[in-house]
Amino acid sequence: MADDDCIFCKIVAGELPVQKVEEDEHTISFMDINPWTRGHALVIPREHTRNLYEAPEETLHRTSVAAQRLALRMRDRLGCDGVNLLNSCEPAAWQTVFHYHVHVIPRYDDDPLELPGKPQEVESDELAKIAEELRGA
Ligand code: 5GP
Ligand code: ZN
Repeated sequence: MADDDCIFCKIVAGELPVQKVEEDEHTISFMDINPWTRGHALVIPREHTRNLYEAPEETLHRTSVAAQRLALRMRDRLGCDGVNLLNSCEPAAWQTVFHYHVHVIPRYDDDPLELPGKPQEVESDELAKIAEELRGA
């Protein structure tokens, strides 16, 4: 069900103008208003769902497939050299709009984006311990 306070629900309802690129029965793809690179776009499900924790399986599937279509358009029409898919789940992970969405970010060999994290060294015991925690033994 649509959330009255959600800007992406307003976009789905046609109450907020966006530059749409593509839509289907379940998803809409449109340009991000503050792009990180030339062509940065978002794919959202029409159905309101807060984020990755809560999205139903079919929502994840449909948005991923729409994101692939968009990535291919970016390659073929914008001539990008690669694409990043990004999803942020909760504020700790940079989520600012609480309607599930996938960023599709075309990348160019000479663009200024950098990896947001630094790979760290970790002891193998520590990796094993974390894996154990995740397995729930
Ligand atoms: P998040 O920070 O939740 O991962 O991503 C939200 C994205 O939505 C941001 O990249 C932001 O620029 C974009 N955004 C926020 N409000 C609007 C809007 O009204 N129109 C469009 N086209 N994009 C928006
Ligand atoms: Zn919404």
